[in-house]
Amino acid sequence: MRKRYNLNHRYRPSFRSFSKLNALQKKRLSRLHLQMFIQLSLFLVIGVCLMASYQMLFFPRIMLEGDRVLEVEYQDKYSEPGYISSYRGKDISSKVKVTGKVDTSKVGEYPVVYQVFYEGKVITKTRIVKVVDSKGPSIEFTGNKKKLYICPNQKYLYDDYKATDNYDGDITSSVEVVEKNGKMRYQVKDSFGNQTEVFRDVFYEDVEGPSLTLDSGNTVMVTKGDSFQNSTYQVEDNCGGDVDVSISGDVDMSQVGEYEKIYKAVDKAGNATEVKQKVVVMEPVKKGVIYLTFDDGPRSGTTDVILNVLKEKGVHATFFVTSGGPDDLIKRMYDEGHSIGLHTASHDYSVVYGSIDSYFNDLKIVSDRVEKITGEKSMLIRFPGGSSNTISKKYTPGIMSYLTREVVSRGYRYYDWNIDSHDAEGGKYDADEISEFVISNLSYDKVNMVLMHDVKVATKDAVGKIIDYGLANGYSFEAIGPYTDMVVQRVNN
Ligand code: ZN
Repeated sequence: MRKRYNLNHRYRPSFRSFSKLNALQKKRLSRLHLQMFIQLSLFLVIGVCLMASYQMLFFPRIMLEGDRVLEVEYQDKYSEPGYISSYRGKDISSKVKVTGKVDTSKVGEYPVVYQVFYEGKVITKTRIVKVVDSKGPSIEFTGNKKKLYICPNQKYLYDDYKATDNYDGDITSSVEVVEKNGKMRYQVKDSFGNQTEVFRDVFYEDVEGPSLTLDSGNTVMVTKGDSFQNSTYQVEDNCGGDVDVSISGDVDMSQVGEYEKIYKAVDKAGNATEVKQKVVVMEPVKKGVIYLTFDDGPRSGTTDVILNVLKEKGVHATFFVTSGGPDDLIKRMYDEGHSIGLHTASHDYSVVYGSIDSYFNDLKIVSDRVEKITGEKSMLIRFPGGSSNTISKKYTPGIMSYLTREVVSRGYRYYDWNIDSHDAEGGKYDADEISEFVISNLSYDKVNMVLMHDVKVATKDAVGKIIDYGLANGYSFEAIGPYTDMVVQRVNN
């Protein structure tokens, strides 16, 4: 008889036949199933391990540093966190090609793809970079950040704040302002829902002084012997009430020198604003006086000869110096009683008229030089090309209009000329012609401010002739002093 149900023959019974088996047979069958499951799992694990080893052995690998999904703030700089690629223990990171651009100027998601081709095999990994805006807008105030003062009986004008967002730009119009319990709340959201909230304490009182401007500026020059008049002024209070203005400080118009006037404006709430004005009393114009002025030096071989002539004739003059030439000659000018003025250090138009700062930086160099040699700060200036020059327009339009006012408000005086010796015109004229230009323009009815250059050879020979003529014809020679009335030309830029 055939054994139909012999389990040793690994006969697999159907479900229907399973119910017909006895207990022992069922037990044996379950054990067989477990054995089969374990065997199968083992095969699977071995299979996976084999596959992984195959991958390891025969395919390159890429490992990303940093997260697979990254967040970068809008408009910040995205920098690649890095990656390593290897193949059978060999570093092949340099073979990795990275594609995909992260544009942090646009909010969004950017895939960055890393791919390596090696020995005919290719592997790819992807990183997602999310450009997000998580920064809230900023609210800035033109006045006090913590406290808001509103004039009594006046309404808040909602005009002293500005909201700016890195993504939306100016969102001032979206700011919601609410006043509650003595506080003002400013609230604003950007288009990504980032919110900013600022609180300020509110006070209904006037704590600000009036605004006060003097029509004549903060420095005025007046002439000795004239009568002094206070400046007219513009005054206005922020809360609109009456303002009292008082003026103090004395000016002695019979004495050259510098004086101070104080203008004080006080509003109804007692807030005061003070403006100080410097008043400089200058010498009256000395008619018939000759001021010989020499620019661009010092220079060995010419300046020293001119100094010899001046010494011999007993005449004092003014030298507007630069950074050139030897210090000794500046020391000699000073020791022999001449005035030393500042002509700028470089005398380079593109530098001195390049900007306001550039002018004053250059002026400081020559000012420091003179102070170091003489121990005195010079407050006398001559602009390269004179204040009427137009070449400065090429570098900075309007600079002369600004500088001529600014140097005065910084306490300097500047001097142009009303007689040109034409000695600077490329050696065109000899000593006789130069002295003739000057002599023929001298006048007893005005101050004679003569432009010359001590770096020119012809000039040194002309000086003696001019002095001889002047002295023989009743003129006197002086050096420019701290209160010598300014001689200025018309500003053209
Ligand atoms: Zn010059």
